[in-house]
Amino acid sequence: MNFEKLTNPLRLELKRGCNNDAVIGGLDKFILKSLTDLDDVNLKRKLTKLFKDYDERTSEERKIIIRECLSLIESNLKKDSHVRQSKISNEVENSLKKTKLSELFIPVQYVKGIGPELAKKLYKLRIETAYDLLMYFPREYLDLRDVKKIVNLTTGENALLKVRIRNIEEKKGKLNILTVLATDGTGFIIAVWFNQGYLKKIFKVGMELYLYGKVQFSYGKWEMPSPAYEIVEEGKEPLNALRITPIYSLTEGLNEKVMRSKIKNFIDSIPYKIFDYIDKQVLERNNLVDLDFAIRNIHFPQSFQDISKSKKRLIFNELFELQYLLLNRKRTFKKLEGYAFTTKNSFIDEFSSLLPFELTSDQLKTMSHILKDFSSHHPMNRLIHGDVGSGKTVVALFASYVAYKNGFQSAIMSPTEILAEQTFKNALNIFKNLNMNIALLTSSTKRKERLKILDDLQNGNIDIIIGTHALIEEDVSFKKLGLVVVDEQHRFGVMQRGALKNKAIQPHTLVMSATPIPRTLALTLYGDLDISEIRVLPKGRKPVITKVFLNDEESPYSLVQEELNKGHKAYIVCPLIEDSDSLEVKSVETLFNKLKNTHLKNYKIAKLHGAMPSVDKQKVIDDFKNGDIQAIVSTTVVEVGVDVKDATVIVVEDADRFGLATLHQLRGRVGRSDLQSYCLLIVRTPSKESVERLRILEKTNNGFEVAEEDLRLRGEGEIFGTKQSGLSNLHLYSLMQEDSITLLEQARSEALSMINKEITWEEERVEELKRIISKKYEDAILLIEVG
Ligand code: ADP
Ligand code: MG
Repeated sequence: MNFEKLTNPLRLELKRGCNNDAVIGGLDKFILKSLTDLDDVNLKRKLTKLFKDYDERTSEERKIIIRECLSLIESNLKKDSHVRQSKISNEVENSLKKTKLSELFIPVQYVKGIGPELAKKLYKLRIETAYDLLMYFPREYLDLRDVKKIVNLTTGENALLKVRIRNIEEKKGKLNILTVLATDGTGFIIAVWFNQGYLKKIFKVGMELYLYGKVQFSYGKWEMPSPAYEIVEEGKEPLNALRITPIYSLTEGLNEKVMRSKIKNFIDSIPYKIFDYIDKQVLERNNLVDLDFAIRNIHFPQSFQDISKSKKRLIFNELFELQYLLLNRKRTFKKLEGYAFTTKNSFIDEFSSLLPFELTSDQLKTMSHILKDFSSHHPMNRLIHGDVGSGKTVVALFASYVAYKNGFQSAIMSPTEILAEQTFKNALNIFKNLNMNIALLTSSTKRKERLKILDDLQNGNIDIIIGTHALIEEDVSFKKLGLVVVDEQHRFGVMQRGALKNKAIQPHTLVMSATPIPRTLALTLYGDLDISEIRVLPKGRKPVITKVFLNDEESPYSLVQEELNKGHKAYIVCPLIEDSDSLEVKSVETLFNKLKNTHLKNYKIAKLHGAMPSVDKQKVIDDFKNGDIQAIVSTTVVEVGVDVKDATVIVVEDADRFGLATLHQLRGRVGRSDLQSYCLLIVRTPSKESVERLRILEKTNNGFEVAEEDLRLRGEGEIFGTKQSGLSNLHLYSLMQEDSITLLEQARSEALSMINKEITWEEERVEELKRIISKKYEDAILLIEVG
């Protein structure tokens, strides 16, 4: 019995406050069922008794029950811990014999040779299960297939040598230096290790070693400082040499050799071929190698060609699974019953006549998408994806206009108060001649006013409510909510997004995002939504001129002065509110004081940051809009949404502290009219990488291009805007390549034809696919269920 199977959910239940929901379907049912394969009759009886009527208990009582259970299990474990160890490895081995990946979702510590200590380190790499370990792919490979001879070395090169030890010397002192003299028969080499005294016990004169590292020729001798080594063992294939050697990303306390050997041992312990759950026809059609081959070869490849075949296959898998999940979800959406609105094309003309400008072609196209969605019996689930400043708000207001015409209420949720207030004023202005009731609800709404709003929402007096997360509080309820809009949706947590939707039965949903993400990722993350893209910007917009200023160059503030002299406005953004000891970055306070006495002393300037009371914030924004303030010194509170047309310059101090996504959003604060605008990025302590990254912004104003470039430069790690998406466990984005888009389209179309039953898959494969998806994407399923 794997006790982790019990203790993990028990601990989770405690953490979640004992609502019997740590496991879907009820923790009690899960525990009672798991107990059936417990051999220890005594323990089984005790635990069963404790859990029998768990569901009827109060959460306080439940806490006691769980603590009791945990301590019973723990004391039992101590009693026979070594018996348990061997039992568990047997269990793992048995499950491996089935060689289905879905059976490898067991805690990684039970993989033979891993254990709790190493597991803790692996967790830091997000390796939690045996499956994760298998799917932890090398970051790169070293070609160590050939051994070099000392006589042929070139100084400065990296080389693999096979040598015999002739002499070992240790120099003790502040720095412990171990010097090993060795030869391969063609010459001598001196390998040196620092502060690794334990090596002295490992190395023996006469022993044979592989050494890998940089070689240097100095004072007539070949040297190798701190090389990687492996002892040659008779009749045993070396792990780290004579092969294409994988290099893994590591964390503190882990080294390549350990990582390599754990993964190798694990792979070798899988006795049978890994069951391939993708249909054979699909593999053939798309030229994909077998799963077993791909997994084994991505770690320990025979050739570089095999690596790329394996990568392709594994990326396909990842994409296919996600597309299967999302497309299924989309199908479910489409089957739901929703409100069919009466839609007339004349709505577009009526609405346009309320605006002071002409709509762009993309705005009009998106509006007709929305009309079409509204007129069907199924709820709309649409994403409006458009760069900053492309004019998404007005489209959302159009949607609420149509809802209003149909006698339904709309709710528009924004991530910040400043943005909510702005949308509110915008709506008031556009709809001023209609008999429409529009209200604003944020956490700073006064209690009395709030109660009135809640009342009016419930009795249907309010047509459009605009607000922040204050909208999803429990006591907010609607009479007839027909449309939900979530602006800057990536800013909300999964639960927040869903909560608004849950205030009605299948309302139409519109989510808006300016997060520029590569197309590949957009299709992947939003595969369950219909997407409208707004690409053209409103007429007359000039591209913002972006310039990176390194510390020793002229100050950007003369340009700020010029702009202010023309009657335009400026934002100056810096990373922190107050100076901090740990980071040498400009804070709002210091910078404000400095500018007030220097460059901007003749201008009206103000501070703005998140810690200010919201009335004060609003006052600053209002004064800025009407010209009483010419420049704002702020934190990134102005990042999303703020719309001031004659702001023409934004200065970002310590720009290298921000991600490109944030900077692009910040840049979107200017260039919102036909005036030429500027974005000036200051870097005080430039590094080559950060400057290269910032130069991307100089090159292009297009958010999508910025995203693609950023992805290319960073290669791996956090992808633009996905931090909160819930999809952080995509193992393979680190492997994504230029041609992945083609692969994505193949995966999507194969998933579609499978769902539409155009091809029939064997039942066993379908089952395995579903099992893997459900284990892997619990988060994602949540995201998709409620988002
Ligand atoms: P975003 O897509 O970033 O949310 P907004 O909806 O805030 O963009 O629009 C940016 C600015 O452009 C606003 O001031 C808005 O009134 C204006 N705008 C929107 N559509 C048009 C248009 N078709 N022509 C001119 N200005 C427009
Ligand atoms: Mg917006």
